[in-house]
Amino acid sequence: MNSLQQIQEVTHCIECKNICEDFGLNRSGESICYPCCGKLDNVEMKNSNIYTLYVSSANEKEASNWPGSFRIPIYHSHVGYHNMSGKRRDYWLCFDGSIWHGFNCSKDSELVNFRRTKQII
Ligand SMILES: [Zn+2]
Repeated sequence: MNSLQQIQEVTHCIECKNICEDFGLNRSGESICYPCCGKLDNVEMKNSNIYTLYVSSANEKEASNWPGSFRIPIYHSHVGYHNMSGKRRDYWLCFDGSIWHGFNCSKDSELVNFRRTKQII
């Protein structure tokens, strides 16, 4: 057996126990498959007032987690001016009975910290 074969281990998702080829790591560093990442993000965001998601500049119609297994449509966005980076993008979405608002001023990052507003849907 050569060294390449030795490192080809089978990875099981810690949540659903299925064998997964594409996986991320949870907070404890355990392997978790992309669909389970999405379920976990859904639960964690419901228990949060601030949650970080990605909004791709190529698709500003939705916010998603890193693997794309958890997606929320953006119902309103606004591009404004920011004195440091030039542009500020604001996004609003509905989740868990609340309106969430986030913005991004960075040219290099697609991460957006969404905050739960007091507005209830
Ligand atoms: Zn899984």
